[in-house]
Amino acid sequence: MSDFKVFDYMAKHEFEQVVYFYDRTTGLKGVTVIHNTTLGPALGGTRLWNYESEDDAVLDCLRLARGMTYKAAAAGLNLGGGKTVLIGDATKVKSEAYFRALGRYVQSLNGRYITAEDVNTNTKDMNYIHMETDYVVGLEGKSGNPSPITALGAFYGIKSALKQKFGCEDISKYTFAIQGAGQTGYYLTEYLLEENAKKIYFSEINPKHIERMKQEHPEVEFVDPDKLFGLDVDVLSPCALGGVLNSDTIPQIKAKIIAGTANNVLLDEDTHGNMIKERGILYAPDFVINAGGLINVYYELMNQPKEKVLADIKLIYDRLLEIYQISEQENIHTQLAAKVFAKKRIQTIKNLHDNYIPR
Ligand code: NAD
Repeated sequence: MSDFKVFDYMAKHEFEQVVYFYDRTTGLKGVTVIHNTTLGPALGGTRLWNYESEDDAVLDCLRLARGMTYKAAAAGLNLGGGKTVLIGDATKVKSEAYFRALGRYVQSLNGRYITAEDVNTNTKDMNYIHMETDYVVGLEGKSGNPSPITALGAFYGIKSALKQKFGCEDISKYTFAIQGAGQTGYYLTEYLLEENAKKIYFSEINPKHIERMKQEHPEVEFVDPDKLFGLDVDVLSPCALGGVLNSDTIPQIKAKIIAGTANNVLLDEDTHGNMIKERGILYAPDFVINAGGLINVYYELMNQPKEKVLADIKLIYDRLLEIYQISEQENIHTQLAAKVFAKKRIQTIKNLHDNYIPR
C-alpha cells in the first residue's frame, strides 16, 4: 500500500482542488489539479502518459500544476496554475470521443481551469476538446506553434544573463553550447546566428535533427552528447530534457551561464540550484526563461494580436534581471529567487483585492 496522502500534500502546498474523472464510454481516466487561482483561471496542459501507478499520476499532476502557478505569476500573467494528466497508452487510447469526453470534464469546471497541449497531446486533440468546451487554448489557426516564441524568450533571457554576468549582451562576443536541436533548440540557434554568435556547438540524439542542422547551418558544430557539458563556452543552453543539471553534470560545466528552454532542468532544485550558485555560474530559472509558450497562449485567450505577445516576450529580459537582484540581495540560488519573485506577485495582488471595489 502506498503511503502518499493527497490531502496532506494539498494542505502542505496549498492546493485548491483535485478532480478525478472516469468516462465509462471511452475509458478516459485522469485527474485535473487546480493549484492556485489568485491571479486568474488555472491554465495548464493535458499530459497523456502510461503511469506506473495512480499515485505517480496524481503526484505528477500536483507538481506540474504548482509549477504552472509560479510560471504564470512570474510571467506577469493573470492566470493561475493547473494541469491535467490522463492515464493511458498514447498509442492506444486516443480518439475523438476520448478527447470530447475530456472536454466535458473541463467544461464542468466552468472556467476555473483552461487546458492546452502537453506531452502526447496535440492541436488536433485540442480541437476535439473544443467541441465540448471553450476552456481550451492552442487551437488550430490560433496562436500556432509555441516553439519559436519560447526560443525567442530564451534568446532575450540569454541576453539578460550576459548583461548580468559580463555587463555586455553583444551575442557576437560569446560562444554557446546547445543541448537538443529539436523545436526550441533549433529556433534558438537561428536567433543566435542572426546576431552573429562567435561559435555555436550543439548536441543531439535524433539523427534527423543532426542532419537538419548540418544541412542548414554547417557552421554550427556537432558535439557528442556526453562531451557537451564539459565544453569551454560562455553559455550552456539546455533545450532537451529535464533533470540534466545534476551532481554528475554540474562539476563538468565550464560555462559561466546556463540558460535554455528546457523544463525542470535541475534534478533537485535546492541541491543543484545551490551547487550551481557555489560554482559561480549564473543560472536563468527555467520557468521564467521558457515562459514564451505560455505568454503566447495567454494572448490567444485574451484575443490580443501577435505584437502584444512579442512585446511581452521581451520583458523576460527585465524579469530575469529583477530575479538576479533578489538572488544577490537574499543570497539564495536563482531558482529560489524566481519563486520568491512569483510568490510576491501573487501575495501582493491578493492583498490588493482585500477591499471591495465595484466594477
Ligand atoms: P523537442 O522534442 O522538439 O526537442 C528536444 C530535442 O532534444 C530532441 O530533438 C531530442 O532528440 C533532443 N535530445 C534528447 N535528449 C538529448 C540528449 N541527451 N542530448 C542531446 N539532445 C537530446 O522539444 P522542444 O519542444 O524543443 O522542448 C525542449 C524542452 O523545452 C523541453 O524540456 C520542453 O518541456 C521545454 N519547453 C518547450 C516549449 C515549447 O514551446 N516547445 C515551451 C516551454 C518549455
